Amino acid sequence: MRKARLATVWLDGCSGCHMSLLDLDEVILEVAKRVEVVYGPLVDAQEFPKSVDVTLVEGAVSSQDDLDLIHTIRKRSKIVVALGDCAVSGNVPAMRNPHPARKLLERIYIEGAEGNRCVPTDGVPALLRQAVPVQEVVKVDLHVPGCPPPPRAIGYVLMELIEGRIPDLGTKVKFG
Ligand code: SF4
Repeated sequence: MRKARLATVWLDGCSGCHMSLLDLDEVILEVAKRVEVVYGPLVDAQEFPKSVDVTLVEGAVSSQDDLDLIHTIRKRSKIVVALGDCAVSGNVPAMRNPHPARKLLERIYIEGAEGNRCVPTDGVPALLRQAVPVQEVVKVDLHVPGCPPPPRAIGYVLMELIEGRIPDLGTKVKFG
């Protein structure tokens, strides 16, 4: 049986959704039999690959790099899942939205710094004006709220998608 090609992506999030994914307990053995993880923080892949079956996206779209990556993900993934409140609604990263990004950076790196007061730019992706949920940029096939979503719900979602079914999340997840 062909294994499903699974990618997991960490945009502007805290990694808590990935921690929840790793907390699947024994379900992870079933998932591991059915998927090949082709991209994400858990594997050493430099470039988002082609022909991905399912991509789990943690975090909001917050920087130019996030924006470029999410467009590539959409083009190369059959199913895109917004995993967690940051990806679904903006959540914590979107708390910066009422303030201009430049002012925030100055507050942190200049006013709040004790030494070396300058806003880093070398190798740092430019912030977008606002941090936005994934669905504001590309089509999302499934939203899985939660901060983070419970491991059991993530396991259920993965197994249903692998079997070719659309998960009925019903009361399995909630925001927060
Ligand atoms: S939804 Fe919660 S756990 Fe997931 S990345 Fe955002 S803040 Fe972290």
